[in-house]
Amino acid sequence: MPGFEIFGDEERKEVADVLETGVLFRYGFEGTRNGHFKALEFEKKLAEITGSNYSHLCSSGTAALCTALTACGIGAGDEVIVPPFTFVATFEAVLNAGAIPVFSEIDETLCLDPDRIKEVITDRTKAVIPVHMCGSMARIDEIKDVCRKKGLILLEDACQSLGASYQGKALGTFGLAGCFSFDAVKTVTCGEGGGIITDSKAVYEKADQFADHGHDHLGGPDRGADDHPIIGTNYRISELSAAVGLAQLNKLDQILDIQRKNKFAIKDAMADLPEVSFRYIPDAKGDSATFLSFFLPTQDRARQIAKNLAKNGAGSVYWYDNNWHYYKKWHHLAQMKCSARLAVELSDNLPDYKNLVLKDADTIMKKTISMQIMLSWTKADIEKRIQAIMKSFKE
Ligand SMILES: *Cc1c(COP(=O)(O)O)cnc(C)c1O
Repeated sequence: MPGFEIFGDEERKEVADVLETGVLFRYGFEGTRNGHFKALEFEKKLAEITGSNYSHLCSSGTAALCTALTACGIGAGDEVIVPPFTFVATFEAVLNAGAIPVFSEIDETLCLDPDRIKEVITDRTKAVIPVHMCGSMARIDEIKDVCRKKGLILLEDACQSLGASYQGKALGTFGLAGCFSFDAVKTVTCGEGGGIITDSKAVYEKADQFADHGHDHLGGPDRGADDHPIIGTNYRISELSAAVGLAQLNKLDQILDIQRKNKFAIKDAMADLPEVSFRYIPDAKGDSATFLSFFLPTQDRARQIAKNLAKNGAGSVYWYDNNWHYYKKWHHLAQMKCSARLAVELSDNLPDYKNLVLKDADTIMKKTISMQIMLSWTKADIEKRIQAIMKSFKE
């Protein structure tokens, strides 16, 4: 999965361009930047790769989510439906927008279940944020349908799924906007960074302004002459980060090829294990293959297999016990330990996070194991790993 495994001369060259001029800022400095606009170039490429009209980079995937929420008009008091299996950033962004995360069930895609969304829709529901977890997709066309029928905004958290698609269409392009992360462990990394894609000019313009203190970027070379149509913040990416990301993005096809080859070698080898069934992937061709996720018959067996895999040198993730990706361990959310007083604390419709129970998600996550697929594995590494897996299932 991680782009950091293939960091090389291409990244160094892009960074050297920036270091040569010393212009680390994405805006202005036309006289001294020697024609280098790394953030702008990265954005063009991201829009092109995903088939979107617009893209805007931010300082992180979390910043991209916060910016996208604002740009889509989601804010104070709005309820936003999110999955209980995601990285904490998804609900953090919703809370920081002043909105209220409302959790809904997942299915065997490990993403939001479109059939269950309506159970949590109220007259305050404004948006749905499906999260395409671990490199693969939700039943996104069906989620899109629910949103259309109920008049809800669809915003995709595709932070873990750059390069993945559903029926030939990039994840992140099914709703009003989509977000990616380029943090240190994502498919493409630039250290810290994130991106928003959208086909809406209005959403793009608001994102572009919000992430840069409200600047309309119409003042020409003098930033002081820009007007400020909205109040914003600073979620800008630096040219240094963008330079790394640009080089990485140019390697995306290569990354996907390797991931898919490595994943399928292992998946094929596991196909005959009677205890194993695989995560449901609505369009296998569009899987970016960053993880191989599978189900065991019971929670006890899943825990045992995860333990065996670790012991035998084929580490995996048992998400149900993980502090960061599953709601059972989000004690800070349960107790609403907000770092600042947020609008939601004053809300009269705050869900009872402390007593949140998502039975179907629990049933699924208790028996789920994921293995991260690495780019640097050699043929021999993969062979060794397969042997370790086989051994783990015999114990
Ligand atoms: C990584 C991640 C984010 C946040 O990205 P950062 O760049 O680390 O802020 C958001 N959502 C999901 C699902 C992620 O995995």
